[in-house]
Amino acid sequence: MLKVENLSVHYGMIQAVKDVSFEVNKGEIVSLIGANGAGKTTILKSLSGLVKPSSGSMTFNNDDLTKKSAPAIVKSGLVQVPEGRHIFAGMTVMENLELGGFIHNNNDDKKEILEYIFETFPVLKERLKQDAATLSGGEQQMLAMGRALMTKPDLLLLDEPSMGLAPIFIREIFNIIERINKQGTTILLIEQNANMALKLSDRGYVLETGQVVLKGSGKELLESEEVQKAYLGG
Ligand code: ATP
Repeated sequence: MLKVENLSVHYGMIQAVKDVSFEVNKGEIVSLIGANGAGKTTILKSLSGLVKPSSGSMTFNNDDLTKKSAPAIVKSGLVQVPEGRHIFAGMTVMENLELGGFIHNNNDDKKEILEYIFETFPVLKERLKQDAATLSGGEQQMLAMGRALMTKPDLLLLDEPSMGLAPIFIREIFNIIERINKQGTTILLIEQNANMALKLSDRGYVLETGQVVLKGSGKELLESEEVQKAYLGG
């Protein structure tokens, strides 16, 4: 579904991503893990068309992503939930969700997706008229994910969904990610919470200073000595 080959990204003189290759197959949950500054967000931004790579190729369902604008990438079914959520303050929960649904002209379609979102995130349904800025961190993460799901993505990119959340919310968010995946959405997950992410993932890639240093199944990575030492305090 997604194939990234020899991706490099520079910010001026700084090379944030160096020759990174990975792939995501339909139906999978794949994690990119690594410490702060490893280049994870930059990879997602490149996929979403927000940052221009200096070299390499990225294809999604055989389409060349480097030739597409950010809105065209969303329309093609690849949607990012950014780090820090970026929900719209001063707008209600419903208005935020509707912004995600701009892509659908058909009202029946929109209704059906809204029902799916309320089933997945019952808490959002209880708070439709509330200003999104007054939601808790966990609820804001749910809203950001719900807003992205309004576009019916084939591939959802999640940038640190557990960041800043209490353990109980982290567990809930990971359960929801698993449920969304089982219902047919493929997931590329970026996390510093390597333990939770790898437990959930079919496969993962470990990034260090812009490079892939290790890859394998979620289980293999969880058990690997390098990952244990660097990320799991083992
Ligand atoms: P974190 O987990 O802290 O978000 P990350 O793995 O997502 O880290 P990136 O945000 O991709 O890492 O950053 C990779 C490198 O690129 C870092 O050294 C960072 O300082 C640099 N960088 C990121 N954005 C910019 C920018 N707009 N201009 C210059 N340098 C940048």
